[in-house]
Amino acid sequence: MPPRQSSRLKKVIADTTANISAPANGTSKAKAIKSKIAEEDDKDESSAAVEEPKSSKKRKADKIEDEEEDQAEDEPVAEKPKDGKKPKTAAKANTEDLMALAKRTIIDTLKKSMYIGAHVSSAGGVHNSVNNAVHIGANAFALFLKSQRKWANPPIAPEAVDGFRSLSKQHKFEVHKHCLPHGSYLVNLAQAEKEKADQAYSSFLDDLQRCESLGIKLYNFHPGNTNGDSRSAAIGRIATQLNKAHKATSTVITVLENMAGQGNVIGSKFEDLRDIIELVEDKSRVGVCIDTCHAFAAGYDLRAPEAFEDTMSKFNSIVGAEYLKAFHINDSKAPFASHRDVHANIGTGFLGLRAFHNVMNHAAFQGMPMVLETPIDRKGPDGKSVEDKQVWADEIKLLESLIGMDPESDEFKALDNRLQAEGASERSKIQDQVDRKSAKDAKKAAPKKAAPKKRGKKKAAASDEESE
Ligand SMILES: [Zn+2]
Ligand SMILES: [Zn+2]
Repeated sequence: MPPRQSSRLKKVIADTTANISAPANGTSKAKAIKSKIAEEDDKDESSAAVEEPKSSKKRKADKIEDEEEDQAEDEPVAEKPKDGKKPKTAAKANTEDLMALAKRTIIDTLKKSMYIGAHVSSAGGVHNSVNNAVHIGANAFALFLKSQRKWANPPIAPEAVDGFRSLSKQHKFEVHKHCLPHGSYLVNLAQAEKEKADQAYSSFLDDLQRCESLGIKLYNFHPGNTNGDSRSAAIGRIATQLNKAHKATSTVITVLENMAGQGNVIGSKFEDLRDIIELVEDKSRVGVCIDTCHAFAAGYDLRAPEAFEDTMSKFNSIVGAEYLKAFHINDSKAPFASHRDVHANIGTGFLGLRAFHNVMNHAAFQGMPMVLETPIDRKGPDGKSVEDKQVWADEIKLLESLIGMDPESDEFKALDNRLQAEGASERSKIQDQVDRKSAKDAKKAAPKKAAPKKRGKKKAAASDEESE
């Protein structure tokens, strides 16, 4: 794997040991001890490179964690991917966690309690997602609870449920807080036709029930599509379905994802989310996940600190801060307000590293799951596309390294420049497409008149991109 990490990132990796999930707010005494540990680690950075033996400092940290969390004693202290011990679990554990690409960061070593991860595979059963999260050093994760491309799915296997619960306990994931499953792309709760609406509802409810059997509390889904009907009618149908689903379940929070597109898509305006929530009877059962790429493409800027503050104050006044539950952390290959949903790797898109610096240093976002959905397909030596999960492992560490980093520092500027250079050709490719489309739309809008409005509002986005 080519080293993508800056010296700063190496330091972040070195500073962190194996995974221990920690409460967001430790006692001040524990914090003091831990910062001491971090200081000591700074001193012997050279010896700590990547592989860190379980030192006495580490054991000290474990002890503190155990006291704070009052964890069951029969659990392994912490996962040590390097020493080759198989996790003890009834479920068939895959082998990925034996060769973790990065160690999970101890949350208390971060200046802000940011739980960062990615949307990992649950192929072979939902329990595999836990190992896949550990594999990339994630402290949060998303997964699909069943196949996303077909309606008929067998019920969740009891072994998968047991495996998910035991593995997440073993790895100390607080899945009720930091796991954010993603709903099916097939489901449109705004569906008007009775038969299709019933099918969508059954699939949606089935997912919520899966969440509850797995101990998951947050469930992310796309609000829906009007299919050409009026917005208010579509929003009314979404809320009706949500109210029904809330009554049929007991704890899971249905989390609306903001969208990038316009036209028939519901959720690209904060007002859409507000209007759905307004009609939800049990407000404790509904929330919002902000996808940074979607927000930016929908016209909510996050780049300059002032623009970011402005977007967040809009969100807080329109939707309400109390509804914000989670993030999808993606850069955007498409330009601002283009309404196109094309995810880019962190720092390489039109959002750029500064936007993620804003997000990572925003105290109010602490404790929320932050999930990468960035592209990891890379060309192999044979020209074939292969998934490179190291990309996520590195992006998690990159995002964590932004916490407390001075954005005026040479270190930040060098990182920013390097990543922007990496993404330059992809950005210009999509920019060209957007420009051509808006020129075409302008022509269509004014066929006989000269001076087409080149910079006017674009029409509905082409549906050629993935919508995540
Ligand atoms: Zn997307
Ligand atoms: Zn999505």
